[in-house]
Amino acid sequence: MMLQTKQRNAILEVLQEAKRPLTRAEILSLTRKKMPRLGSSTVDRAIKKFSETFDLVGVDFPGQPRRYELPAEGEHPHFICRKCNRVYDLEGIMALPPLQAPKGYIVMGGEIIYSGICASCNQ
Ligand SMILES: [Zn+2]
Repeated sequence: MMLQTKQRNAILEVLQEAKRPLTRAEILSLTRKKMPRLGSSTVDRAIKKFSETFDLVGVDFPGQPRRYELPAEGEHPHFICRKCNRVYDLEGIMALPPLQAPKGYIVMGGEIIYSGICASCNQ
């Protein structure tokens, strides 16, 4: 079954509105608020397709389900809330410390992850 434009747009809209990386489960439940009959396999297909075309970027943290966000202008730090487990994008330039990779290693990426309590949990 083809992914319909309406479904595709609704999913991208959800990610735009959220302004933070979302898990598959979050994408499904938030998009269902717009399209109650949206199937979970449709969301899976959309995520796969968007990832292939780089319309979505996977965000992985150890011990966490993979999250997805829209491609950003540049690398940015992330923040994970220790209470609600949501992940947020932080403003600012991400500057990783200079690294001397061990011999034979090819470093292809790095992440800066802050953790703490988010504004909505801190009320
Ligand atoms: Zn929180």
